[in-house]
Amino acid sequence: MADRLTRIAIVSEDRCKPKKCRQECKKSCPVVKTGKLCIEVAPTSKTAFLSEELCIGCGICVKKCPFEGIQIINLPKDLAKDTTHRYGANGFKLHRLPVPRPGQVLGVRGTNGNGKTTGLKIWPAGDLKPIFGRFNTPPDWEEILTHFRGSELQSYFIRVVEENLKTAIKPQHVDHIKEFVQDNLGKKLEEMDERGMMEEICADMELNQVLEREARQVSGGELQRFAIAAVFVKKADIYMFDEPSSYLDVRQRLKAAQVIRSLLRHDSYVIVVEHDLSVLDYLSDFVCCLYGKPGAYGVVTLPFSVREGINVFLAGFIPTENLRFRDESLTFRVSETTQESDGEVKSYARYKYPYNE
Ligand code: ADP
Ligand code: SF4
Repeated sequence: MADRLTRIAIVSEDRCKPKKCRQECKKSCPVVKTGKLCIEVAPTSKTAFLSEELCIGCGICVKKCPFEGIQIINLPKDLAKDTTHRYGANGFKLHRLPVPRPGQVLGVRGTNGNGKTTGLKIWPAGDLKPIFGRFNTPPDWEEILTHFRGSELQSYFIRVVEENLKTAIKPQHVDHIKEFVQDNLGKKLEEMDERGMMEEICADMELNQVLEREARQVSGGELQRFAIAAVFVKKADIYMFDEPSSYLDVRQRLKAAQVIRSLLRHDSYVIVVEHDLSVLDYLSDFVCCLYGKPGAYGVVTLPFSVREGINVFLAGFIPTENLRFRDESLTFRVSETTQESDGEVKSYARYKYPYNE
């Protein structure tokens, strides 16, 4: 039983194509050969189903699938009781959640595909619920609150529900803004400006020169700055920023970090998913890291002080859990040049935290 809890089977929705293969996974599975339904490919199903309970971890199906559609992964520790979300039977699995604290900025750092955005979407009025992997019988909020009883997360969720806290989110992919912002940016920002801060934020985010333009007529950096401004002008109790630094140059990143920090009130929550470790360092009061296998599973660490959190991320080792989640530690490199958002390459030596590991 303990063995089962540490193994997960992921079937890629993009790669698994049961109508285009000979169902090699099922045909080669030694457990299926004994008559057990370890792998099923129902005629109506879009992907194969792998039973994590029956799987013995032989890895034969992984090798036999012509489309590399299966991953069988042994988790570094027993995380079954910490499962917070799962997208379907053989989908991505998230363990634990980032725990925000009132009056502080929570910084979140992890590799792409480890579930940072999924974690941000989980709160009472959010797109997702912590269903603990029970996608067939999802719990209601009463059960969820009981599950988190006595934890910081329970206090947060209770506040969100009882005080009807309002959330404002800057999504990760700002390109999507082009699909739903038809007006010019100035008009849209004016509509959204619940705090009467438009003038100030347009100056801070250098937006004045693009206010007359539509979303499809601006660059990635301008769209990013607009997206940050659009969240900033909202009256909210929880502010979430998913990768606010993308497309911004060093100076703009710093300004964005200042703007984000200025949203803090003693009772408000600010959560920022950030790749740039120097920005994370600058804007966070505490840090959670996310480790795992991109597209397969993610684990949120307990909160650390900023320095500890960044060191955990760089070292790939969590001393408090005695757990190594990456074989090598990451080291700093010195960059002689840096590219500004206007494309100009400036030449001055600077220490850079690694952007992608
Ligand atoms: P990150 O923000 O760390 O890049 P995400 O939370 O966006 O990671 O996604 C983690 C994984 O969850 C993705 O690799 C993807 O495979 C899966 N995922 C995200 N959204 C869905 C969804 N709606 N349905 C199924 N799988 C999803
Ligand atoms: Fe076919 Fe691979 Fe999907 Fe199995 S996992 S049904 S072999 S595509």
